[in-house]
Order: sequence, then C-alpha cells, then structure tokens
Amino acid sequence: MQEKGTISIHTENIFPIIKKFLYSDHEIFLRELVSNAVDATQKIKRLATLGQYKGELGDITVEVSFDEKKKTITISDKGLGMTAEEIKKYINQIAFSGATEFVEKFKDAKDANEIIGKFGLGFYSAFMVAKNVEIHTLSYQDGAEPAIWTCDGSTEFEIKKGKRKTRGTDIILHINEDSEEFLDKWKLQGILDKYCKFLPVPIKFGTKSESVEDGVDDKGERKWKSVEVDNIINTTSPIWTKSPSDLKDEDYLNFYKELYPMSEDPLFWIHLNVDYPFNLTGVLYFPKVKNEFELQRNKIKLFSRQVFITDEVKDIVPEFLMLLHGVIDSPDIPLNVSRSFLQADGNVKKINNYITKKVADKLSELYKKDRKAYEAKWNDIGLFVKYGMISEDKFYEKGKEFTLLKNTKDEYFTLDEYTDKVKAIQTNKDDQTIFLYATDVDKQDSFIASANKKDYDVLILDSPIDSHFIQHIETKLDKTQLKRVDADVVEKLIQKEDSYANLLTEDQSKQVKELFEKAIDNKSYSVEIEGLSPEEMPVTITMEEWMRRMKDMAQTGGGG
Ligand code: ADP
Ligand code: MG
Repeated sequence: MQEKGTISIHTENIFPIIKKFLYSDHEIFLRELVSNAVDATQKIKRLATLGQYKGELGDITVEVSFDEKKKTITISDKGLGMTAEEIKKYINQIAFSGATEFVEKFKDAKDANEIIGKFGLGFYSAFMVAKNVEIHTLSYQDGAEPAIWTCDGSTEFEIKKGKRKTRGTDIILHINEDSEEFLDKWKLQGILDKYCKFLPVPIKFGTKSESVEDGVDDKGERKWKSVEVDNIINTTSPIWTKSPSDLKDEDYLNFYKELYPMSEDPLFWIHLNVDYPFNLTGVLYFPKVKNEFELQRNKIKLFSRQVFITDEVKDIVPEFLMLLHGVIDSPDIPLNVSRSFLQADGNVKKINNYITKKVADKLSELYKKDRKAYEAKWNDIGLFVKYGMISEDKFYEKGKEFTLLKNTKDEYFTLDEYTDKVKAIQTNKDDQTIFLYATDVDKQDSFIASANKKDYDVLILDSPIDSHFIQHIETKLDKTQLKRVDADVVEKLIQKEDSYANLLTEDQSKQVKELFEKAIDNKSYSVEIEGLSPEEMPVTITMEEWMRRMKDMAQTGGGG
C-alpha cells in the first residue's frame, strides 16, 4: 500500500502564515503533540474500561525524546493509534481544517497580540519547527495495519504501510534549521515543565540519577548509591483534580510551594469545583504580602484539562482577584479568540461571577466561624477586600458584612457596627455621621488625643488603598462622611458639655485666634481656640477635608 495525495485546502501557503502569527510561541508545538499523545492514551484507557478494548493496556507512559545528530524530536504514545483511513480523516482533513480556519480568522489581524497566542492549532503546529513530519502508528483495532504518514509542510502527503508491531503512535519531527534550539535537553525540559507538568498520564523525558539505599557498610551505617531512573516530568493528579475532602492543609501548602517556591505560606485558599452551567476546577490562594508594592498580578495559571494554557488571566478572573495566586482549570474558557470576544463571552462572564461569589463566601465563612482569628488576619486580608469593595459592586454587597474598620485602640468593627457606635455623638449639624480617621498615628497623635478627649473615636486608614476606599464607602454609606482627624470638622460636631472651663475670656480667645491666623497667613487653614486645660492643646490648626484631599492628590500625582 502506498498512496500519495493532496490535502484539499484553498490556502496554498498556510505554513508561512502560521509561522508568522505564532512566531513568539513556537514552543507550543510540544504542548500540542504531547496533549494529543495524552488524549490518545486516555481514549484507550476508556475503551478498556468500557470493555471495547480487550488487550493488555500495559505501560502507558508517553515518551518525549530527541536526537541531536539526526535533528529529530519524537513523541511516542501507547494510545489507541490510527489506521490509514483515520489518518486521512483526522490528520489530513480535520486537523488541517482547524489550521485553515485559524488562518482565515487571523490573516487580517493587525496585531498578533490580538490573538490569544495560544490557539489550539493542534497537530499542524509541528510545522512551526519541523521541515518534515512522520507519523508511525498502529491502531488498537483487531487486524489493523500499521501505517506511516509523511508530509513536508506543503499540501502534499504520503501514506504507506508501516512495520510497527505495538499499539500507539510515534510522531517524528525533523527539525528545521531555524528551530535547532529545540534540540536541547534543558530547553525541552523547560517547555515540558511549563505546559505539561500536570498532565494526567505519566510523561517520560530521558532519565535522571537518584540516590537509593544500598544496604549497610561494615560499621552498620547506611550506604547510598546513585541509579538512573526514568525522568517523569509530571504529577498526574494535581490537587485541583481531587476532592477537597481527600486533602489536608499540608497538601494545599505543598502545592503552593510547588507553584511558587520562594513565597511565604498563603493566608488561606479556596477550592473551586463546579460542573454546571460550566465546568471549572481550581484552587485559589490568598498570598501573604507585606504591602501593596509586593503584590504581583498574573500569578494565576490557567489550564484546560490539565494542560497549561497561560498565566494571563485578565478578563477571566475579576480584576481585583488578579492579586490571588493558584490555578484555574476549565475546558469551557474559549482560548482561540481575541480579548474583546472573551469579554463578551457568556461563559467567561459566568465564570467571573462564580469566582467572585466563591471568594466572598469564603471570606464570610472565615469571618463568621472565628471573628477573633479573622481580625488577626485583617491586616493581610484587608487589602484584597478593600480592593474588591472598590472595584466590584457585586462584591461590595457581600463584602460590607465582613469588611472591618480598625480604630486607634486596636478594636475592629464592621461598617454597620461602627455607624452604630459613633452616630450618637459624631454627628454634624446637617445630621451626617462623621467617621474620623488618621492616616499617620504618629504625626496626627495630638489630633487623635484631642478627639479622644471629646470621646470621639478615630479609625486608622493608613495604607495607600485607603484613600480610594474612603471615597468609595462615602458614596455607599448613607449620610456618612469620612474626615481626617486634623480636618476642621472636629470642632463642628455636636459636642457634649465642655469638661473644662475656658481659661480665656471671649475677648482673649479672639485675640489669640487672630494672632495665630496672622502668623499662618493661609486661608485654607482655620484656627480654633478650645476650652481645654493649659497642659493640653488649647489651639488646633486644621484644614478642610476636601482641600487636604486635593493637596494629597496633587502630591501623589492624582491618586490613581
Ligand atoms: P485536536 O487534538 O483538537 O482534535 P489536533 O490537530 O491536535 O486536533 O489533532 C487532530 C486529530 O488527530 C485528533 O483529534 C486525533 O483524532 C488525531 N491524532 C492526533 N495525534 C494523535 C495520536 N498521537 N494518536 C492518535 N490520534 C491522534
Ligand atoms: Mg490536539
């Protein structure tokens, strides 16, 4: 049997176009071919389970190897294999139509970045790095004949009878001159680590040496020797594929260490698992960070059926949750479309809402289960929660029940609790409740003391995100304003009876006031003479809240 044929497509020169668009991503050829090998292996396993394949499954390890001299890379599997007819159907027609569709879609795209870059180009991505590709395959079916397919990247192919005796498929790539960098152990190991680390079938890439025990020596000490063992590059059942009830905290922490070796332990995590109306699994971690500047975005890895796709999860994960770490695995996220399409995609929207809800539920659960422990973590969690409150209305609605405010006495309150606490005395003449806050407890120390003297409470809102958080909750809370403790408002709140008699007469007060005003010579400040005892602060100089905010913004370049 020998047959030559022409792959029927309209675009003659498909490969130059594929190469052009996926230029920076040539390495994905390996992901695609290994995924196909894994798929073929999963299929034979399923057929065996269903009783439709009665032979021995045997060792089903997929193997990746290369030959520097022959300039080949080979991907071998012991999957279900293909008959010559199936090659014609699946490789010549179907796979090629996928590639054709890709080109049709993107030949006019101006910017290659518009394409997610991770298009499932499948089998034909082999031609990004190979000048010639061979398929040696034997189908699992009774009486199947082995077949060899070869193609040089033009639309011409050749199929002939093969000699293969065992079930499965070898894909042999004859690497082109421009791609010889891939004929390198570390290069290939790196690509496999990146894309194939969690695939569900063992993948072997060469061997590695390992120390094993080798009896005891004369003195009774244990002896070790080095042996060569298969280098299996993947973990076949990563934790997100398991049930939470089968996992211990340690498993989650170990997995985190595996993903981010240099990081501190995370604060907590959320195991995601849903099959309807879309399929999604994953584990999201809240990282421990010292401050906002340490926060890193894009640490979430996106997988599709355990194949790594990207760590650009923008538009899939809500913006504020980009600060989380971990993995999301979903076959329902379209990977082959441009960003703008992704934003409009119904599944992506649902996934977005689902994740937001899950995170809010988890926080709510932690808060309800053990408030003291939650308060202790607030310093670390607060940043995420505030960011979420500011950026997602859906999250605000849930978040207001577990968002905490901390005062200068180290006490924590929810928004409602705090309103109840202060509204009796911290109310201005327009009946607005005033939350006082300090942005720097040391510098504003005397103002805090003076407010406390009047039984007013002062919050600490001192991180960079707080200025945005303050503005946001003002728009959300009814009849409530937030004022920095050194704002002029403090004096204008309805006060309880003065506890000290004023040591100055009215006239004297007026004179002192004028004296200060003259010395300051700036209309944006106002001077108040208080009826306090002489050892305290008889004079406070304040600035209107809005004026100060403007100044702060000018200093920080607009405040973002
Ligand atoms: P996809 O994997 O999305 O179906 P591909 O272009 O990667 O698209 O592959 C096309 C088809 O070729 C596969 O669906 C499968 O039927 C067949 N195929 C590819 N590689 C193998 C393999 N190693 N063993 C068996 N069949 C394969
Ligand atoms: Mg494929």
